[in-house]
Amino acid sequence: MQVNVAQLLRAPIGSVRDYEIEQVIYITGDGVNSLVQGNVRLTRTNRSILAKGELATEVELTCSRCLGSFKCPLKINLEDEYYPTADVDTGAPLAVPDEPGSFTIGENHILDLTEAVRQYALLAIPMKPLCKESCAGLCPFCGKNLNQGPCGCPLNSTDPRWAELSKLKKEKGK
Ligand SMILES: [Zn+2]
Ligand SMILES: [Zn+2]
Repeated sequence: MQVNVAQLLRAPIGSVRDYEIEQVIYITGDGVNSLVQGNVRLTRTNRSILAKGELATEVELTCSRCLGSFKCPLKINLEDEYYPTADVDTGAPLAVPDEPGSFTIGENHILDLTEAVRQYALLAIPMKPLCKESCAGLCPFCGKNLNQGPCGCPLNSTDPRWAELSKLKKEKGK
């Protein structure tokens, strides 16, 4: 997600460039890569380049209820300033504001969106991910994933035949 912004740095304040993004990056560090798609607008400001975009991607997560892995769609609303570290004409180093989380443009005038996109995507991941809102979870007795159908556990079954059987079992035990 690298853009050469040398031209934009020379352009008057307020100049914009629009980019369509479609790139595979690593987001979660589990070795599974994600395709990021969307649009980013770069605007030349008096001190930086403002990157604003709406992107979408997917990450593979583990459902907090059934422990199954699933693809979770994420929306990324990116808005960040990128400060140049070198003067675009002379190459002289430029002071970069000491703001936490601010990004810089490399000496070669390459603006790299990857790290910002990765950070936004990580923030967009739900704390307790669910493969679906109605996820049935795991049977507390046998551990079967109940999304794949009911298990055979009498205690956990609403099947009337099982209710009969557990009654019989109880009577036998007397
Ligand atoms: Zn689930
Ligand atoms: Zn069960």
